[in-house]
Amino acid sequence: MDIAALKAELEGLKIEDNPKIVQQKSRDFYWYSPVLKRQLDHVSGDLVVSPRDEGEVVRVLSACHRLGVPVTPRGTGTGNYGQAMPLSGGVILSLAEMNAVTSILPGRVVAHPGAIIVDIDRATRAHSNQELRLHPSTYATASIGGFIAGGSGGVGSINFGGLRDFGNVLRLRVVTMEAEPRILELTGEDIHKVTHAYGTNGIITEVEMPLTAAYDWVDVIVGFDSFTGAARYGNTLACQDGILTKLVTPIAAPVPWLYFKRHQKFLREDMSICVAMVAPHSLDAFLAFTRRAGGQVVYNAATASDEEKKGLPPAYELAWNHTTLRALRVDPSITYLQSLYPFPDHLELVEKIDGLFPGEVFSHLEFVRLDGNVTCFGLNLVRFTTEERLDEIVAAFEQNGCPIFNPHRYTLEEGGMKQTDEVQLAFKREADPRGLLNPGKMIAWEDPAYDYRSGKTFLFKGLSQVS
Ligand SMILES: Cc1cc2nc3c(=O)[nH]c(=O)nc-3n(C[C@H](O)[C@H](O)[C@H](O)COP(=O)(O)OP(=O)(O)OC[C@H]3O[C@@H](n4cnc5c(N)ncnc54)[C@H](O)[C@@H]3O)c2cc1C
Repeated sequence: MDIAALKAELEGLKIEDNPKIVQQKSRDFYWYSPVLKRQLDHVSGDLVVSPRDEGEVVRVLSACHRLGVPVTPRGTGTGNYGQAMPLSGGVILSLAEMNAVTSILPGRVVAHPGAIIVDIDRATRAHSNQELRLHPSTYATASIGGFIAGGSGGVGSINFGGLRDFGNVLRLRVVTMEAEPRILELTGEDIHKVTHAYGTNGIITEVEMPLTAAYDWVDVIVGFDSFTGAARYGNTLACQDGILTKLVTPIAAPVPWLYFKRHQKFLREDMSICVAMVAPHSLDAFLAFTRRAGGQVVYNAATASDEEKKGLPPAYELAWNHTTLRALRVDPSITYLQSLYPFPDHLELVEKIDGLFPGEVFSHLEFVRLDGNVTCFGLNLVRFTTEERLDEIVAAFEQNGCPIFNPHRYTLEEGGMKQTDEVQLAFKREADPRGLLNPGKMIAWEDPAYDYRSGKTFLFKGLSQVS
């Protein structure tokens, strides 16, 4: 890899080659997983290039194509599947400088990929009291391009489903990795070519996202004596068509009391909870419903005093992957699994799985609306002992009918549906013929004959060559 020649070609662009900074920018939240921590800890790129506009992106991709240098795009590096880690070294393409919100219209916003999600919402709220439909719990830190290329859904999925559902991304502008990079505008069906593709088949340089009405969401925590009570309540609340919520998150005792340190004063060790974000106009109905359902409101931001609210994180920072983050900060032996409890048996499955691993796996659910049906994802906390035991737990979930999106694997397929995404593979052949974009993340490209049922973990050959 001729990095000196590349630097000469990129004269005038913003380049960072201090090895400490390059290593820092080569990492994301991969360390969430003890397995990825072991496998990827040594990974580093060779330099970070931060284009300021699409023209500079084209220049970088063209030069890297000519010199055969891999390019791994990066938003803000909050992915927790090692998505943004350059397994074959080369260029880290940081999109952080391309962060403008360029247009806001009724129901839609156009932004550059490095725009931080909370900043987009600030702009759309100020402009016309609108907000994005969905955001990850890393709302305050993640980029919109990174969310589209590396995320799946989150806060708001209870109303709108996942990021890859039709209509949740309106248009993407993408630059290809060729001798003369092309600029493509993807809409409709074509959007699926690059959403959640980890940047393996194109660089997103502009996004157009749908908006919805913005509210001053009220954070509420409802307590229950049993996890089953919290899960059933969460399901029924999520099915209340007249009550507008943005987050419905049941979490089993003792997780909230042990790990939500700032909220501990409102909780008991044996209390399971449901965390919710409720639209202000729905709050009275929500409280009446909760009373009838036998839940105890232990925290209500609408009535809490300033003293009580002081220093509390927002509700969404107790939910989705933030639940695991809070647990990890207190107990580094905690890791997690991401699963789906398929509709219509989701509640039965939740109860069954909850009873399988006492003291080892702790239930955490996120209710979502998928294809019109309310069901839930599990982001269950796991007390980690060995990789073999973790694999046994994964197998038990799957044997019981709950697919796992394994957060202990760095490839798209193993972290997803364990099958080739033919559309994304075909687009990679077209848009990245030399296979230089984020190498090692798409098994179908690296090893077309790979057998996903082998029970083995895919090992990217290029990984061992990085020093
Ligand atoms: C505490 C915590 C909570 C989280 N909660 C959620 C959640 O609720 N929902 C969820 O879906 N995820 C969640 N995540 C994962 C992650 O935060 C999100 O997916 C986030 O949106 C990623 O944005 P980023 O800017 O950090 O992307 P990065 O991590 O920098 O990149 C993500 C992927 O996108 C690629 N990429 C980045 N920019 C581009 C671009 N312009 N063009 C092409 N490819 C690009 C990268 O190569 C990488 O593969 C969470 C992670 C943590 C650590």
